[in-house]
Amino acid sequence: MKAQDYFISKAFLPTGWARDVRLRVTDQGLIANVRAGAIAEPGDQHLGTVLPGIANAHSHAFQRAMAGMSEYRMSHTDSFWSWRNTMYQYANRVSPQGLHAIASQLYVEMLKGGYTSVAEFHYLHHQPDGTRYANRSQLSQSIIDAANLSGINLTLLPVLYMASGFGGAGLLDAQKRFGNSLNDYFKLHGEASNYCADQPQHCVGMALHSLRAVTPEAIDQALGHFIHAHPQRPIHIHVAEQLREVEQSLAILGQRPVEWLLNNHKIDSNWCLIHATHMTMEETTALAATGATVGICPTTEANLGDGLFPLDDYLRAGGSIAIGSDGNSAIDPFEEMRWLEYGQRLASGRRNVATGKNDMHTGSHLYRNCAVGGGCAINAPTGAIADGCRADLLVLDDRPPERAELEPRYLLDNLLFSPSERPIADVMVNGKWRI
Ligand SMILES: [Zn+2]
Repeated sequence: MKAQDYFISKAFLPTGWARDVRLRVTDQGLIANVRAGAIAEPGDQHLGTVLPGIANAHSHAFQRAMAGMSEYRMSHTDSFWSWRNTMYQYANRVSPQGLHAIASQLYVEMLKGGYTSVAEFHYLHHQPDGTRYANRSQLSQSIIDAANLSGINLTLLPVLYMASGFGGAGLLDAQKRFGNSLNDYFKLHGEASNYCADQPQHCVGMALHSLRAVTPEAIDQALGHFIHAHPQRPIHIHVAEQLREVEQSLAILGQRPVEWLLNNHKIDSNWCLIHATHMTMEETTALAATGATVGICPTTEANLGDGLFPLDDYLRAGGSIAIGSDGNSAIDPFEEMRWLEYGQRLASGRRNVATGKNDMHTGSHLYRNCAVGGGCAINAPTGAIADGCRADLLVLDDRPPERAELEPRYLLDNLLFSPSERPIADVMVNGKWRI
């Protein structure tokens, strides 16, 4: 790839909106020489309004194909747990070829929506009855191939899944596809890492499914092995999504899930806690201080009736947030951010909750936080238009009249809270145009 200079009319920089921004995209696909108030030079490619791309912190690709298929009542006690049974029935019908097709289409949808990276929390490992594929990491490879076909940056998170509940209860039949011993898990992890070893835009991190699915002893061993081998790679875990999970954690571990993690492991900026919906004020404040990121999945959390993340307290304590599309009913970062803010408004009776001391505009404050936090969630230099970051850029469609003449500080408010169809015209990933 040849280096190319760009001249951008309006760019959302870490300091806010700037006009007449000149920057270089290097032959490595990185951003360099960002200058605002610049003058265009011959050879520059001209762009209109540009945002940094968003890293999607949490996806289960296969669930895209069942989106909208579980929205009918089976009993008056329908819940996350009854949805999970439906999801298992569906999960056990997905083939390697099917997963490749679903993920390929999904990742193109993500790029069109504004996600330039995705963290795939991947727990389909084996055949439905638990028999290994001849190629142990077959389904991980389906995901990696799909990322390559679409052009999205992938953080593959092979999931360690060992038990059906707290206390190490054996796997249910429907969970046989997910299960691995520690030894098997690290063999699979090594194979998946080798499969994309020559593709530095991808990374293979680790996911612990949840405190339900991995015992404290196994978590100790898995972390010891993984952090020793890969000290800079991301570690993700589902945590405190449902109240029942909090009650069981209290009963078996004697502590709430987030409390237990904070007391028993060195949670730091390599960690991304998915959901963390149900926290006390003490947990919220303590988690915010660790440097970890919380991956919030507002449309999925609404769909499954999980509850509301304590956003205001967590942001006030300086916590890092990212957004994820999780069950993939919605593939739109703007929609996730809108739901994140609207949930807070509905619960608190206030407006403009997610704002900060230096930015009173909800749209730009949320977007900046989720873009930067997305980069933290996958431990990758993305989510900002700044020197050294990946050239992951979104060029807005400037034609709709409601945005064309808008003062820049209202632009992200408009995108989040007055959505138009397909706001993004072009998408660059690692310096290459993908959409
Ligand atoms: Zn999930």
